Amino acid sequence: MMPTSQLPEAFTARLGQMLGERFSTSMALRQQHGRDESIFPATLPDAVAYARDTAEVAEIVQLCGTFNIPVIPYAAGSSLEGHTLAVHGGLTLNLMQMNGILGINAEDQTATVQPGVTREALNAALRDTGLFFPVDPGADASIGGMCSTRASGTNAVRYGTMRENVVSLTAIVASGDIVKTGRRAKKSAAGYDLTRLFVGAEGTLGIIVEATVRLHPLPESTMAAVCAFPDIDAAVQSVVQIVQLGVPVARCEFVDPVAIKALNVYSKTGLPEQPHLFFEFHGSQSGLKEQIALVQDITQDHGAASFVWSASPEERSRLWAARHNVYFAASQLRPGARSVVTDVCVPISRLADCVNETIQDLRESQILAPVVGHVGDGNFHVQMLVDGASQDEIDGAEALNARLVSRALSMDGTCTGEHGIGLHKQGFLIDELGSASVNVMRQIKQALDPRNIMNPGKIFSL
Ligand SMILES: Cc1cc2nc3c(=O)[nH]c(=O)nc-3n(C[C@H](O)[C@H](O)[C@H](O)COP(=O)(O)OP(=O)(O)OC[C@H]3O[C@@H](n4cnc5c(N)ncnc54)[C@H](O)[C@@H]3O)c2cc1C
Repeated sequence: MMPTSQLPEAFTARLGQMLGERFSTSMALRQQHGRDESIFPATLPDAVAYARDTAEVAEIVQLCGTFNIPVIPYAAGSSLEGHTLAVHGGLTLNLMQMNGILGINAEDQTATVQPGVTREALNAALRDTGLFFPVDPGADASIGGMCSTRASGTNAVRYGTMRENVVSLTAIVASGDIVKTGRRAKKSAAGYDLTRLFVGAEGTLGIIVEATVRLHPLPESTMAAVCAFPDIDAAVQSVVQIVQLGVPVARCEFVDPVAIKALNVYSKTGLPEQPHLFFEFHGSQSGLKEQIALVQDITQDHGAASFVWSASPEERSRLWAARHNVYFAASQLRPGARSVVTDVCVPISRLADCVNETIQDLRESQILAPVVGHVGDGNFHVQMLVDGASQDEIDGAEALNARLVSRALSMDGTCTGEHGIGLHKQGFLIDELGSASVNVMRQIKQALDPRNIMNPGKIFSL
């Protein structure tokens, strides 16, 4: 592996010749690509390149292979676990200029895009088709990045995560070969499932240059609701019952009182500082009535104090924009603080135990930490606000994170429902799956990337 800041001249000369101003070793660009929202210190690449097409990506990867230089795929840069940090130096390859929509096939309900298309840009392009792309992490992330972290969001309870919504991919592997993982057929039994191999690989197996994703019909009707509860257990027990009864909610989000306080200040939501569930329902008029009646009964049985409905698109957008902004809202609760963000996911039958024990732990540790979650999936997030200059506070947050993960694992859950492993959760991955399973991952990595140039140091060490 090349030591940092020492790229061979032949390498930089070739990239400069190929990309012109789209290749740079400037400190400003290296800094921009060498830090993220995680608690890890900035770790800069030696250079940054912007690719515009598949042929360029293939040539750049080949060149990195020839010179044994790490290549870190970079998109919107919104990942939370240190995924894009250049821990071994090398070249960060920014893919956001590969932002073409290559085809929308409304009849088959698929779209084929370049990796730098963001989820919002894709939905804007779908506006007149009657279709939408449902996966919605809080940031306006790229499709390539979302494939690579196996992202999900508020809609996953109804429409699935990237795992369910990627039909096929084209990726450049370390040899520079172009690998196509499938066709557009809805199902296939043809060999190993390479699509699923690249989904969630965090850029360690190859660079995605094209993705075909599944689209869904826009619902005939949509209703949103906000519901306040006397305590956290009542809110979570409502969710468990709603899910166990099979109510097809489109969104079901938990927001704890600390996060509500943050939203009220940041998004002027004016909600009581109590635990809340935010719901959205999709379906026919009659179907919605049934869903809503059932959910209202369940929540009232658990003591819900208020149930505020909204059918107006503006009101709904305001509500979900507020929910999507909760990370930034929460950051304002302690200006200047850094966030240690974590997410776990447990089987729905254990959700109440996991959330309740975690909230108790948070209270005892006195760390300011809003809790929100895509609870319909059993997934929730804790955003611990710490003084980035205080090692004690960081250690306290990390200890809390370790207890949270160990609690989730003891309940047959996972150390991450959607943010991924990156740098932060590598030890927990072994706790979750065992060394033998992680060794299989290592063997796959070594087979595809024998020189370890593709985003090295992420998911596991070699
Ligand atoms: C406010 C906020 C809210 C969030 N909410 C959610 C949420 O609800 N759900 C959720 O799942 N996540 C959430 N996230 C995390 C983040 O948005 C996701 O991880 C997202 O998928 C990252 O996409 P990106 O385009 O920013 O990728 P980046 O951060 O640029 O990259 C992510 C990873 O993918 C790799 N990569 C990027 N592009 C490619 C490519 N073309 N080929 C191969 N590898 C590539 C990178 O090397 C890196 O390992 C949130 C983040 C923020 C800041």
